[in-house]
Amino acid sequence: MEKTINGVRVNLVRGDITRYETDAIVNAANSSLLGGGGVDGAIHRAGGPAILEECRKIRNRQGGCETGDAVVTTAGRLPAKFVVHTVGPVYRDGRSGEEEQLKSCYVRSLEEAAAAGARKIAFPNISTGIYGYPKDKAAEAAWTAVQDWTAGRSSEDGETFLEEIAFVCYDEENERLYRRLLERKD
Ligand code: ADP
Repeated sequence: MEKTINGVRVNLVRGDITRYETDAIVNAANSSLLGGGGVDGAIHRAGGPAILEECRKIRNRQGGCETGDAVVTTAGRLPAKFVVHTVGPVYRDGRSGEEEQLKSCYVRSLEEAAAAGARKIAFPNISTGIYGYPKDKAAEAAWTAVQDWTAGRSSEDGETFLEEIAFVCYDEENERLYRRLLERKD
């Protein structure tokens, strides 16, 4: 399904993010930037070694990526132009700054993608796999962060604006949760 918020098209799709046609694919990376399981493994496998090569350079330069931050690399063989690697929080008890960190992942990814010149960006459901973030809470945080960011941007100067933000859900539960959020009148 599709919805427009603050002048940006928001797409909700179910599937494998590595096959999604967009400018920037967001990776739920870990702070080492050296690859891992889940969507991270899928992106590195599909994109090939060029992605890891750039991740290594960033790691040598700045020692990886902190939780809530994001860095940009090539997308290698993927249809996208860039991969934005962001590090989601490991969920503990919900009172250890997880929500702020997760929102920061979305905001920093949007900032980095826009700075790189991307007009379309696709997000996986960051932290909801191995990092154990409850899916309903993660979807709510993601949606709020994207709404707030797009609202702030459109009230500024209106240039280099993103056209599309896609939430690419791998599992049915996430798709259902996001659908409910997009259908909500707010
Ligand atoms: P994290 O460590 O941030 O939890 P995971 O990769 O384990 O990262 O999971 C994040 C989300 O990505 C999960 O909802 C998982 O189902 C989803 N996922 C796994 N593989 C893919 C893929 N190829 N495309 C899109 N989403 C994926």
